[in-house]
Amino acid sequence: MRIRCPYCREKIRKDASICPHCQQKLESSNDNSLSFATTLLLLGAMVSTGIAVGLLWGYYAETRLWHDET
Ligand SMILES: [Zn+2]
Repeated sequence: MRIRCPYCREKIRKDASICPHCQQKLESSNDNSLSFATTLLLLGAMVSTGIAVGLLWGYYAETRLWHDET
């Protein structure tokens, strides 16, 4: 599958990162999917951290409750 270079309009490989005709850097779909995966990874890390903090806080509140009873 071939696409046209947006700079010089020559036919180039779809996965080419640099146009062989005008040497311009090209935006590849691979880069977009990578940044999307990175965003998902960051989001997952944030959610995991939130769950871990929530669990720790719940454990802390529970142990303090036991301490108050005795
Ligand atoms: Zn080009």
